[in-house]
Amino acid sequence: MPNLPSCITPPNRILMGPGPSDIAPRVLSAMAAPTVGHLDPYFLQIMDETQQMLRQVFRTENKLTMSVSGTGSSGMEACVVNLVEPGDRVVVCVNGVFGGRMADVASRCGAEVTTIERPFGEVFTPDEIADVCKRVSPKLLGIVHAETSTGARQPLDGLADIVHDAGALLLVDCVTSLGGCPIEIDKWGIDAAYSGTQKCLSCPPGLAPVTFSDRAVDVIDKRTHKVASWYLDITMVRNYWSDKSRAYHHTAPINMNYGLHEALRIVLEEGLEARHARHHRNHLALRAGLEAMGVEFAVAEDHRLPMLNAVLIPEGVDDKAVRGQLLNQFGIEIGGGLGPLAGKTWRIGLMGEASTPRNVLVFLAALEACLKAQGHQSSPGAGVAAANEAYAHA
Ligand code: PLP
Repeated sequence: MPNLPSCITPPNRILMGPGPSDIAPRVLSAMAAPTVGHLDPYFLQIMDETQQMLRQVFRTENKLTMSVSGTGSSGMEACVVNLVEPGDRVVVCVNGVFGGRMADVASRCGAEVTTIERPFGEVFTPDEIADVCKRVSPKLLGIVHAETSTGARQPLDGLADIVHDAGALLLVDCVTSLGGCPIEIDKWGIDAAYSGTQKCLSCPPGLAPVTFSDRAVDVIDKRTHKVASWYLDITMVRNYWSDKSRAYHHTAPINMNYGLHEALRIVLEEGLEARHARHHRNHLALRAGLEAMGVEFAVAEDHRLPMLNAVLIPEGVDDKAVRGQLLNQFGIEIGGGLGPLAGKTWRIGLMGEASTPRNVLVFLAALEACLKAQGHQSSPGAGVAAANEAYAHA
């Protein structure tokens, strides 16, 4: 008998960090179904249904809507590498880690990148977007809807008109927002968007839903250079997703696509409005509980994300000790701050399956114990009581 490592027995966690979130058991079951070939008629049907459901969740009629093989970052790269050619002018709005990444990806594609910046936790105004569009005349403007590194929600309504008037395309990162708060691809005039499976869709990490408007497809069709990435070249990958050709490009991650298919079914069964309302309700209850315990939010009220609650670590409290105790004693994962917010904020996720009253209440009780161990006193049970009160009035 060879000396093998033990089989996979992960600890039971409540995933309340910046993602991955808790996975719906139905999604895990779907992923355990037998693998079929990537050109099997059964899998082709799953692909077609996934595209239809993605259109509903993205709220779009875009024909070119599909999942890219890879995590959310592959969606980011797929959008940028296909829309940008060397020498193109690109504007990226940077108010957190993921905007910074988009700028990096665009510069690796040979774009002339201009960034506009806001402090972490703040959002951009339409005037700032108009100014930079006027100054730079870009081909593409990229912006993050839900900045997971800061907890800020960027208002998008009205931005497309500004960007289109300047002759540019609007690219939006909705990795964390899709399935948790409204995202209206067609109504808001967004030309390209990408997401990830592991946040509010509650599917394991591994696929990136993407969608491209006709205007974006036209830009791709008129490229003069080959797409710099072979794997993410939409001009080839789309032939596999097209019901006309089904040309082999790469072996699709079959079981990941089963998982996404089931995750989308769950989202649509619940209904987008009901799902968004659930995320909002749990966010408000968490907020009431945290405030009753003297824990403040890091983002102005108008721009808070319901699925990613960034809060300031109270004075004198040890960041790592609290996160360690939450994980080891209570099995709860939350995230620390990223970039300049490291050691200053906690990021408490209420994404998809994890956005429940049970998690809010258990977390508040656990946090109270952890804060008490750090000498931070609040009146016993105040957090849970305030959250319960918020639920009673929701
Ligand atoms: N964009 C945002 C807003 C994110 O939150 C993340 C991941 O947390 C990404 C992009 C990158 O996604 P992934 O880590 O799945 O590659």
